[in-house]
Amino acid sequence: MTDTPTQLFIGGSWVAAADGATMPVDDPATGEIIAHVADAGAKDARLAEDAAAEAQEEWARTAPRVRSEILRRAYEIIIERTDELAHLMTSEMGKPLAEARGEVAYAAEFFRWFSEEAVRIDGGGGVLPDGRNRMLLSRRPVGPCLLITPWNFPLAMGTRKIGPAIAAGCTMILKPAPQTPLSSLALAAILKEAGLPDGVLNVVTTSRAGEVCEPLLRGGRIRKLSFTGSTQVGRLLLAQCADKVVRSSMELGGNAPFIVFEDADLGKAVDGAMLAKMRNMGEACTAANRFFVHRSVAEEFGRQLAERMGGLVVGPGTRDGVDVGPLIDATGRAKVEELVADAVERGARVLVGGRTPAGPGCFYPPTVLTDVDPGSRLMDTEIFGPVAAILTFDDENEVVSRANDTPWGLVGYVFTEGLDRALRVSERLEVGMVGLNTGLVSNPAAPFGGVKQSGLGREGGRVGIDEFLEYQYLAVPVR
Ligand code: NAP
Repeated sequence: MTDTPTQLFIGGSWVAAADGATMPVDDPATGEIIAHVADAGAKDARLAEDAAAEAQEEWARTAPRVRSEILRRAYEIIIERTDELAHLMTSEMGKPLAEARGEVAYAAEFFRWFSEEAVRIDGGGGVLPDGRNRMLLSRRPVGPCLLITPWNFPLAMGTRKIGPAIAAGCTMILKPAPQTPLSSLALAAILKEAGLPDGVLNVVTTSRAGEVCEPLLRGGRIRKLSFTGSTQVGRLLLAQCADKVVRSSMELGGNAPFIVFEDADLGKAVDGAMLAKMRNMGEACTAANRFFVHRSVAEEFGRQLAERMGGLVVGPGTRDGVDVGPLIDATGRAKVEELVADAVERGARVLVGGRTPAGPGCFYPPTVLTDVDPGSRLMDTEIFGPVAAILTFDDENEVVSRANDTPWGLVGYVFTEGLDRALRVSERLEVGMVGLNTGLVSNPAAPFGGVKQSGLGREGGRVGIDEFLEYQYLAVPVR
C-alpha cells in the first residue's frame, strides 16, 4: 500500500523507536530493500506494555456488541483492500499474488468469525449439589496479551490471534516477524480506522525479539502469550512464561505425514499432495513433509506428482502466471538445499527439480525425491520448501507407527477410498488435525492446532476464544 505505516503503533499513535533505530525489509524475489521500519528496543516494549495495561480495564467493560462491530468493520475494510494488502504481502514475503489474495480472505475471515463469537461468550450457573450455594459463572478476559507471529502467513497469523483477543476483551502487543512487519502495520491502521480504541492493540516491530519480549513475559503485567513459530523458540518462551505463570498458547512446528494407501484415488491423492506440499511454496507448518506411499502405487504416484510439480512456473510472485515464488531468505533456501543434498547422498532419486537456479532472489524449484532413505535428515526436519520426499510402505500398522514416530503432531493426511480404514487410521494418528482425502485443513471455523511438541491450545473455531478467557465462579448462598 502506498501509505503503509513504518513506525511502531503504541497507544493509538505511530511513533519512532525510542533510540531512532530502523530495520530494512526486503523483497525476497529481488533482494531489494522495499522499506525501513522502526526497530523497537526494551524501552518501546515498556511503552507498549503501559498502553496495553492502561487500556485493559475499560476495554474489558466495553460491550461485546461494540467489540464485535469493530471486528466486523475491520473485516469489511480488509476485503475491500484485498488487492493492496495482497501486493504488500507478496512484496515482503514472496508468495504469488493469487495465494496472497487467498491469505487476505482467510485472514479477514478470522475477524468475521470472532465478530460473531464476541457476542456469544457464555457463562452459567445453578444450585450446587449440596443445596447450600448457588454458582454464578462468568467469563472474563485474561488480560493484556503478547502475540508473537512468524513470517510465513504475515496477515493471517496476526488476525487469528487479534480476532479472538478483541472479541474476548483483551488488550495486546503484537510482535510480528522482522521479515514481514508491513502487513501487521497495515492491519493496525485498518483496526484504528475501524474504531479500535487506543492502546487495545500495540504493534512493535523489531529485530531484537529477545530484548523486547523477555522483559514483557517476566514483568508480571502480561497475562497471556500466544505464540506461533518454531518448536525450538516455543520451548524457550514457555520457560520465560514460567517465571510469572503466564498463560500460553503455542502453535509450533509440524512434520506432517501424507499417507497414500493402495486403494486411494490417485488423482485425488496427487491433487491433495499439490495443495498440502505447494501451498505457500511449502513454507507452512501444515506442509506435507513425509510422503508414505503404498509400494504398489508409489511409482505411479511419484510419476504423476513429478509431472504436476515440474509444470509449475517459478518466478516473482507479482508476475502473472507464476505459481511458485521465492523462499523467504537465503538461510531458508540453504536449509532446503542441504536437506536435499543429504537425501540424495543417502540414495534418493530426483524425479524433478533439485537444482538451485542462478540469478537474484531466493528461488528453489519444485522438487520430487523418491526412494528416500528413512534416515535422511528431512524425515525429522521441517523442510519448509517445495520438496516432496517419497518413501514406500507395505502395511497399515507399519505406516501408522512410522507416521507417529516423530515428536511433532500437527496434521496428517490420509488418502484411501475405504471408509473403515479412513476412520481407523485417522484416529490412530497422533495429530491435532487430519485431512482425509484432502490436502487442505485450515479454516477459521475449525479448531487449528497440534499435539505433542506441535503446540498447546487451539486457534479458530468455537474454542479459539477460550484461550483468551478465564472463568470466574461466584458462590452465592441460597438463603
Ligand atoms: P521462529 O524462528 O520460531 O520465529 C517465530 C517468531 O518468534 C518470530 O516473530 C521471531 O522473531 C520470534 N522469536 C524468535 N526468537 C524469539 C525470542 N527469543 N523471544 C521472542 N520472540 C522470538 O519461526 P519462523 O521461522 O518465523 O516460522 C516458521 C515456524 O513457525 C515453523 O516451525 C512453522 O511450522 C511454525 N508455524 C506454525 C504454525 C502453527 O499454527 N502451528 C503456523 C505457522 C508457522 P525473530 O525472527 O526476530 O527471531
